Amino acid sequence: MKVILLGPPGAGKGTQAARIAEKLQVTRAASGDLFRGNIRNNTELGRLAKSYMDRGVLVPDDVTIRLVMDWLDSPEQSKGFVLDGFPRTLGQAEALDRVLVDKGGINRVMYINVPEAELIRRLAGRYICRICQTPYHESFSPPRQAGICDKCGGEVYQRDDDKAEVVGKRLEVFFKETEPLVDYYRLAGNLKEINGEGTIEDVGNALIAALE
Ligand code: ADP
Ligand code: AMP
Repeated sequence: MKVILLGPPGAGKGTQAARIAEKLQVTRAASGDLFRGNIRNNTELGRLAKSYMDRGVLVPDDVTIRLVMDWLDSPEQSKGFVLDGFPRTLGQAEALDRVLVDKGGINRVMYINVPEAELIRRLAGRYICRICQTPYHESFSPPRQAGICDKCGGEVYQRDDDKAEVVGKRLEVFFKETEPLVDYYRLAGNLKEINGEGTIEDVGNALIAALE
């Protein structure tokens, strides 16, 4: 099973990806997590990606496509995967289609739709783990112990690009560059639209139901 989670920043892709991957018994990757891992390790790719991420704009396609294709190349992904935050441009979607052409293509694209005001509320209160990148929310889904990740004990912090001055730009970039993918996958016939406004539990159940 090869699944894409599509949706604006703050829709709940990262929150739901772990649950879906576990249910389907497949691996998962978030392009944003891969970039932040590189930033943390101070790699050349990380330094380059940071210069775009800090401004709330997309990292160029050639760099992003190479990064995700390297991840997809590994044998662990042969059983299927959940991709979160990739593709985000038409160029990325076409590149993904090309590499999967002999592997049956993408099975499902889950579009998690959430109104803008709710996205802003979610991003303003989001904290993530510095080590495993699990997302939390200060009111909707706080860690059991303040500031500490439930899963790995890592420090929980606010992303620089979740600050109000960058969030507006990220939403604008989503509507301009990524939203056209909704029609791209609708035409391909594998899009499922999910109302992402409910609780984390409700949205998770709706996603699992739509995958079955
Ligand atoms: P994305 O990966 O799509 O950018 P996240 O999964 O990181 O989004 O979720 C954004 C923020 O909203 C996080 O703080 C998360 O805890 C919170 N969140 C996710 N889903 C819900 C939901 N259904 N209701 C309330 N808060 C949510
Ligand atoms: P995310 O963690 O998904 O919110 O992504 C954080 C940032 O990483 C984005 O604002 C982009 O700068 C960059 N990024 C993540 N995924 C992609 C992608 N598929 N294409 C381009 N840039 C990306």
